Amino acid sequence: MAHPFSELTAELDDIAQQGLYRSRRIIESPQGINLEIDGRNVVNFCSNDYLGLANHPDVVNAFKAGADQYGVGSGSAHLICGHSAAHHALEEELAAFTGRDRALLFSTGYMANIGVISALLGRGDAVFEDRLNHASLLDGGLLSGARFKRYAHADAADLSANLEKAAGNKLIVTDGVFSMDGDFAPLNELAVAAKKQGAWLMVDDAHGLGVIGEYGGGIVEHYGLGQDDVPVLMGTLGKGFGTFGAFVAGSEVLIETLIQKARTYVYTTALPAAVAEATRASLKIVISESWRRDKLKKLSERFRLGAEQLGLQVMASSSAIQPILIGDSQRAVNISNALLDAGFLVSAIRPPTVPQGSARLRVTFSALHEEQHVDRLLDALAKIIAGCK
Ligand SMILES: *Cc1c(COP(=O)(O)O)cnc(C)c1O
Repeated sequence: MAHPFSELTAELDDIAQQGLYRSRRIIESPQGINLEIDGRNVVNFCSNDYLGLANHPDVVNAFKAGADQYGVGSGSAHLICGHSAAHHALEEELAAFTGRDRALLFSTGYMANIGVISALLGRGDAVFEDRLNHASLLDGGLLSGARFKRYAHADAADLSANLEKAAGNKLIVTDGVFSMDGDFAPLNELAVAAKKQGAWLMVDDAHGLGVIGEYGGGIVEHYGLGQDDVPVLMGTLGKGFGTFGAFVAGSEVLIETLIQKARTYVYTTALPAAVAEATRASLKIVISESWRRDKLKKLSERFRLGAEQLGLQVMASSSAIQPILIGDSQRAVNISNALLDAGFLVSAIRPPTVPQGSARLRVTFSALHEEQHVDRLLDALAKIIAGCK
């Protein structure tokens, strides 16, 4: 008799054959630019903790004080008895920070995206998604039951052609800064197309909030777009903010609709109040320490210029995400492993996270890196990529 799951074993073998097998590395140190892995120190170039706040003493202390004040567990969902004064204060501060009427916390970004899209759309409606959108946005669109249409990456003309044909409520959904490419959505054009066709525009700015714009307001600050232009703004707290969770910001009607109808809001436990307290501390730093954004920009530009000079295939990114295109998945993994041996943690991103044949090294920077880290990484890349099959 066959073992249970014998079909799955064959599938796992197949995944490995294609160079697509994924495994975890065990980190023994706090998050930061230096990580301890298997007793070895490596320089970290793959975190989304862009501003270096995940282990900032103010954030850690606020978390501890929050646990002292509220305990660890939040006890229930927000609508039962889990919505603490800490959550409420953070929502008000996030609304002010984003220049929106209100903000609503979700326990993760994945859940926020699924909840929002399913709350706003149903059968008879239509959702329009950039081809390179994050998995959670695509899943949210599919789950909503609305007609699901992908448009060519960052192509407002392709979007407009599709919009004209649609009936029902129409929602355009895009990453702000694309997570695996680092480029910006053409938000000004998308906002014009949305208004012209009476569609709603939703932006997931997981990689832009706190990081992009003089004040850290993200992609909407970069383009100067308000709540009328981008009525649904989603952000995550586990990246630039260095903590955990997510939020959606927008009008009173939007937020009240989500409280009534977003199933991933209603039917899940609120994130710990201490996490909200930690995030309030990190938001203060995001607002007041613009040097972190300036430094990040300098480091990213230094890397990009250096990589170009080495003849590496950089991508059209002006953010802290600077991928090097490799193509073949196994080769990307081999290079990533060789970099680790040389003391640099850089992740190989492969399909289905990115399109077939576009495996890449996703290099990310932190405000805590120094120029010498960038230069050392460039030296290692030059040697390793040339010698790696
Ligand atoms: C990370 C990410 C998410 C998911 O957020 P989590 O809080 O990690 O669940 C959603 N959208 C984008 C674009 C992301 O990069």
